[in-house]
Amino acid sequence: MSTTPGNVHNKNWNFYRVGLTGGIASGKSTVANLFAALGVPVIDSDVIAREVVAPGTDGLKAVVAEFGADVLQPDGSLDRRQLRTVAFASDARRHRLEAILHPRIGAAMEAQCREAGGPYQLLVIPLLVEAGLVDRVNRVLVVDCSEDIQRQRLMVRDGETAAGVERLLAAQVNRQSRLMKADDVLVNNGSLHELKQSVASLHTGYLRLASSASGNNLNMANH
Ligand code: ADP
Repeated sequence: MSTTPGNVHNKNWNFYRVGLTGGIASGKSTVANLFAALGVPVIDSDVIAREVVAPGTDGLKAVVAEFGADVLQPDGSLDRRQLRTVAFASDARRHRLEAILHPRIGAAMEAQCREAGGPYQLLVIPLLVEAGLVDRVNRVLVVDCSEDIQRQRLMVRDGETAAGVERLLAAQVNRQSRLMKADDVLVNNGSLHELKQSVASLHTGYLRLASSASGNNLNMANH
């Protein structure tokens, strides 16, 4: 769990950004809550992805214009299951959906980052590696656990069957390719107590990195 400086060149946001990612049920939400308890603002791409297509948004209007009113529930909110069925029927349709969603999610994340303040910010992006968003953050933190533990947690948390678990795991990006992008790896095979201690030690490192990054920016501004 080293905290040597990551690639911070040309990443002069107002706040230092740590991107948190990991496989399904690896512990991302649990880890995000531990950072939040230490006072770190958490910006969650899954939450934002729902917000940009909430009723009344221009995102929802664009989705309906593209895929038809069948993707709405009777109350006017998005029927996600129906949208998945319609939009994932071909690559071209999926790309059209992504062309609607991704710019809106990106813009909303940037807006939340500008607002959130904090000593540094934690951006929870489950698809950080898959979506090629690694250069949107200063540092990549991957939470990882063994596949056996991941299977157990999925069954307990989501009541998944063994077959369902295998399907979910097969749909995920290769664990090794995710780990290759990591600046820090948080191994979550142990107890919550151990996880909390690891988060506290990463937090200390990130505070240091964030303050030296802002010092560098200050120096640059003074030259
Ligand atoms: P993710 O957000 O990556 O999908 P979660 O944080 O929801 O994963 O964790 C998956 C499940 O495993 C949750 O029910 C969570 O409470 C549990 N969990 C996570 N880490 C631990 C741990 N170290 N010890 C015990 N349970 C854990």
